[in-house]
Amino acid sequence: MIRPNSTIEAIPAGEPFVGPERIMRERGVQAMLRLGANESAFGPSPKAIAAMAAELPRLSWYGDPDSYSLRSALAERWNAARDEMLVTSGIDELLGLVVRCFLAPGETAVASAGTYPTFAYHAVGYGGRVESVAYREDGRIDLDGLASTARRCNAAICYLANPDNPSGSFADAEAIARFRAALPERTLLLLDEAYAEFADPTALLEPRPFPGVVRARTFSKLYGLAGARIGYGLAPQELLAPMLKVRLQYGVNRNAQIGALAALTDDAFARDVLERTARGRAEYVALGAELGLPTLESSTNFVCFDCSSRERADAVVEALLRRGVWTRKPGIAPLDRCIRVTVGDEGSREHFATELSAICARVAM
Ligand SMILES: *Cc1c(COP(=O)(O)O)cnc(C)c1O
Repeated sequence: MIRPNSTIEAIPAGEPFVGPERIMRERGVQAMLRLGANESAFGPSPKAIAAMAAELPRLSWYGDPDSYSLRSALAERWNAARDEMLVTSGIDELLGLVVRCFLAPGETAVASAGTYPTFAYHAVGYGGRVESVAYREDGRIDLDGLASTARRCNAAICYLANPDNPSGSFADAEAIARFRAALPERTLLLLDEAYAEFADPTALLEPRPFPGVVRARTFSKLYGLAGARIGYGLAPQELLAPMLKVRLQYGVNRNAQIGALAALTDDAFARDVLERTARGRAEYVALGAELGLPTLESSTNFVCFDCSSRERADAVVEALLRRGVWTRKPGIAPLDRCIRVTVGDEGSREHFATELSAICARVAM
């Protein structure tokens, strides 16, 4: 009998992400307002679209396996050497590479229970163990708890999303420096900064690599290129070198490299997206206050509305779905009483506000 390896066989079947396409298929609907995956409501930069469109006829070529031009542009931005940048097919691929290279089978990694799930997904898939640490009661990441657990387990990797998904909370540069110092020396800090551009720029870690840290960045959120699948890691060269040995040489789409490079030249567009996102976040906060659904402070392009119990949050997500609005909710307490809603464009926000208000009027809150 043909069987998968025992690590894979031991993983229960199931999928960490159910896409909106399947939800639409199963419910027989043609369109939904997509506010469930923190995709940019503002699209890619017109410069990125033009550059990618112009190169489409050359999709018969492989992309540059070194992503040389993009790494060069990124290195300049980050005050880093080219060898301190690794371009991957999104942060999701990078998380897998870090796990594969730095978490031996049977070793332990530490992460928050209920944070962005892809890290744990890779850790389990490569035969590692994940020690989870609960969020604090206020819905923020328990940095002290993560550090003490990493020390207790002598963890190989500690994963931290900052700003965090799904809470939206953010720890400033000082807190992160203290946190790194509290981890065992042998622990790699995998810092997922998918939403960093949305946080207060004066509170961010300096733009450079840090010893013992792999910083993960993406073009999926601010730059609106989620479907192109491109992101990168910033780390000391000795942390990236092992990944070069096993990475998928042609894993990064050629067109994605071209779009990402063009996106980097359009700072005006990125600034505009940031401003519009901040306005949208403020609108959500006001909407939550009006409807009696307090919002959690967010440094991202999404906001959590507190529905005060898991049951009510489940009911609100389902009621929104029935009205054609796709959102998601955190799965684990204390955040499971919230719904997580991506900041849409102006029209989508109005649509969402109308539907949420109607639901709140009907579901006794
Ligand atoms: C969206 C998201 C990602 C995915 O990034 P890709 O570059 O699209 O793979 C990674 N981490 C967090 C925390 C996210 O929310």
